[in-house]
This record gives sequence, C-alpha cells and structure tokens, in this order.
Amino acid sequence: MAASCHHYLLSSPFTSGLPLKTTRTTTTARPRPFPKAPIIIASSARPLRAAVVGGGPAGASAAEALALGGIETYLIERAPSGSKPCGGAIPLCMLSEFDLPSSLVDRRVTRMRVVSPSNRAADFGRSLRPHEHIPMLRREVLDSFLRRRAADAGARLLPGLFTSLRLPLSDSDPYLVHYIAPPSTRGSLAGDPSTLAVDVVIGADGANSRVARSISAGEYTTAIAFQERIRLPPAGMSRYEDLAEMYVGADVSPDFYAWVFPKCDHVAVGTGTSTAKPEIKRLQAAIRARAGPKIAGGEVIRVEAHPIPEHPRPRRVVGRAALVGDAAGYVTRCSGEGIYFAAKSGRMCGDAIVSAWKERGVVTEADLRTEYLRKWDDEYGGMFRFLDLLQQVFYGSNAGREALVELCADEYVQRMTFESYLYKRMARGDWRKDLGLAWRTIGSLVRAGVMGWEVDRLRGIGADAS
Ligand SMILES: Cc1cc2nc3c(=O)[nH]c(=O)nc-3n(C[C@H](O)[C@H](O)[C@H](O)COP(=O)(O)OP(=O)(O)OC[C@H]3O[C@@H](n4cnc5c(N)ncnc54)[C@H](O)[C@@H]3O)c2cc1C
Repeated sequence: MAASCHHYLLSSPFTSGLPLKTTRTTTTARPRPFPKAPIIIASSARPLRAAVVGGGPAGASAAEALALGGIETYLIERAPSGSKPCGGAIPLCMLSEFDLPSSLVDRRVTRMRVVSPSNRAADFGRSLRPHEHIPMLRREVLDSFLRRRAADAGARLLPGLFTSLRLPLSDSDPYLVHYIAPPSTRGSLAGDPSTLAVDVVIGADGANSRVARSISAGEYTTAIAFQERIRLPPAGMSRYEDLAEMYVGADVSPDFYAWVFPKCDHVAVGTGTSTAKPEIKRLQAAIRARAGPKIAGGEVIRVEAHPIPEHPRPRRVVGRAALVGDAAGYVTRCSGEGIYFAAKSGRMCGDAIVSAWKERGVVTEADLRTEYLRKWDDEYGGMFRFLDLLQQVFYGSNAGREALVELCADEYVQRMTFESYLYKRMARGDWRKDLGLAWRTIGSLVRAGVMGWEVDRLRGIGADAS
C-alpha cells in the first residue's frame, strides 16, 4: 500500500548558527603526500575529530556511527535539500538493520517483472513469504532522515561544498578540510570559504568524489544512469501499486537493464549503460517505447542523470582518510544496487574508527585497513565478483537476456535470488537443486544461442545477434 508523501525536508537538520569549528581562509592548499604509518596520539584534552564529506546514505551512516562512538564529527553536505537521482529500491533487511521507520517507504513491491528483448515476461514474487517485499523510497526522504539521525547522535551538520583537502605533514598533523559554506550575509552570492582541522576524513561524496581525488585514490570506470520521474494518471499509478519492472534488451541498454520503479505519486523510468554513454537518450526513448501504454498520459516531473561506479577504486584507504559508498565504488554491476552498500560501508568505517580509538587511543592507516577494508572485502567481495560474472553472462547479448528471463520464471531461482537480495547473504541452496539449476542454466543458454555464438566467435566466424 502506498504511504502518503511525507515532507521530512521541511525540517532539515542543516541550520545556520551551528557552532562551526571553522576558520576563514583564503589560501588554496595543495595536497601533499602522506607520510607512512600515520598515527594520531590519543589526547585526553580533546576527542578525535572526524570530517565526513557527503551526506548520502554512506556519509550519514558513517557520521551517525562516529557520533554515537563519542567522536567529534562534522558532516559536510553541499545540497541538504537536494535529491540524488536514484531508483530508491532497497533490500528488506535494511529496514531492520538501519532501524528505518516504515513511514519512509513509498511502496512495497511484491512483484518484480523482468521483460525480455522479445517481450516475454517473468514475474518474480511467487516465492515471497507474506511479510516479504522490496521497499521503494525517495532518496530525499531517506537521506534527510539519516542525516537528522546523525545530528541527533551528536554529529554537526555543515552545509557546504567541499573543495580540497590539505594532507598532514606529520603523524600528529591534522587534515585541513576546505569547503565553501553558504553565504553568511543575506543577498550575497559568493559562499564563505571555511576550513576544518580534523584527525580522520571519510569521503562519502559519491561517484565524482573530490575526496578520492585529493588523496589520489585512483580512477574507476562508471556507467551513466538516466531517469525520468513520470506522474501517471490514477489508473496507470494503480497498475504499479506493488509492481516494479525491469526491461532487458540491446534496444534499452547494451550492458545493463532499464526500469520502471513505483514511487509515492509517480514512477521512475530509466536506463543505464557504461559502453554506450553518448546513446543514453536514445536508450531512454526505447524504454519509454517498451513501457508504452503503461506510462501513456504521464507527466514528466523531473529528468535526472548520474554516474554509477562499476568497480572499487584502486585505493580506498590512504593515510587516515577512507572512502565509502559510491566514492569507494560499492555498487553491484549486475543490479546497479548501491544504497544498502553505501550505508553499510559508512557504518562499518565509522565503527572501525571508533573501536580503534576506544581500544588504543590511536587511529592508523593499518586500523582502517584491517577493521574496515578487510572486513568489508571478506563480507562482500565474493558477492560483488559473483554479480559481476552474472552481468557478463546474461547482459552481453539478447540471447543471454532471453535465457535470463527464462531462468527467472524458475521457482528455485526466484527463491535463491530474492533470499540473496532481500537479506544480503548468499542463500544456502540444496545441492541437488543447485545441480538441477546449473543444468537448466546451460539449457537456457544453449536454447538462447549464447553458446553457439560463443563457439562461432572463438572460431573467428563472429556473430552477434543483438
Ligand atoms: C539513476 C540511478 C538509479 C539508481 N537506483 C538504485 C536503486 O534503485 N537501488 C539502489 O540500491 N541503488 C541505486 N542506485 C545507486 C545509488 O544511488 C548509489 O549507490 C547510492 O546513492 C550511493 O550512496 P552514497 O552515499 O555513497 O553516495 P550519494 O548518494 O551519491 O551521496 C553523495 C553525497 O555527497 C554530496 N556531495 C558530493 N560532492 C560533494 C562535495 N564536494 N561537497 C559536499 N557534499 C558533496 C552529494 O550532494 C550527496 O548528497 C542508483 C543510481 C542511479 C544514478
């Protein structure tokens, strides 16, 4: 059932008059290399100071964890009342793990329809238990809720655009975080350059991360996702009451999928690609054509686009600075899912800093590597690699996509997929059924011609049907 549209943004926790620990500066700092094995020595005179750049799910969750652990935390967000372009689908386990009230959820999807290039459809959902669903929410609602909770835990929210980071010259040197705060004088257009001195920095500033650039974390490849928010007439909206659609096909994306996701009072219709970015508008026109009469008569209320990382960055921890969420590159390639992983990595990184500080009064690069990076990779590395593989097998050609939809109709596949998606753990299967599934997968691929084309390709004949 649809929830009413709540306006959490009206009570934005970003207010002026916060006790900002900033000093005005006019110098442009040049990042300098970080010395090896940086250590902050505990001081009973003051708590550890942390700056979190970016107030999306990653940054807000990191800031909350830090503040709850007694760290002096600053959360810098450039657009507190903005809304991240996003489908807004989250796994069910996120509601309980992050204690999200059900009032945040716009829709509870119980049918996920996957539509093949030839318009065959498979409905996921038959295997769902009565309480199970995919929660859909608007990012402006989720993000402002999470930021408010971080503020309630004690984080200081600083509206402002992070511009650069001056790296420390010694173990006991602070990082200098430069940002432009909103103009303090009414009517003034230019913002106020400000600087914050902190001991640790978390970069949660998304796919175009400036923190990543400041610490020379290296580049990653990105896909582009394009989305239109469309308000449908009542009959159209009621069709999507509990239904979300995924469309696969070379027409809508050569390497990803397109979607129609229901929201509070509109649907998000979009597509993504990494290999055909200049074609994104043509691909968007194709998903509108595929959805056709179902979205007819709709009014486009917003058009948005944003990059989606495809891989983790070469370096996610440099000195006492760590990257989380999209800035780190935690989006699954197969599904483009990143909200849960952003929040989870933010919290994990915040907790790592808190536990190092509490246990030894010291936070080092080694702490961040073992307590955050290693734990993260142990828990999710395998899942990301597996989903990468699925993307390559099933999204590479229209034949692979037909096979995917054929498999999606399989009840065992549905149970295993939903189990893994909703609860973020690799579902434990039954080996006999797994064997059967492997056999059926090969059968579907063969039927769809993938293997035949692969053989042709290897023989040098070359044939791509999509
Ligand atoms: C069109 C689209 C659809 C998607 N659909 C889904 C979906 O349905 N489900 C899902 O799980 N994932 C989806 N994703 C992926 C998901 O949006 C991201 O993985 C997720 O938002 C990552 O969260 P984050 O906090 O790391 O980064 P972001 O959400 O990008 O947050 C970064 C924050 O940092 C702020 N910021 C950036 N630069 C600065 C700066 N210089 N100074 C201060 N602040 C700054 C930004 O304003 C923003 O608030 C989608 C992505 C796109 C583009």
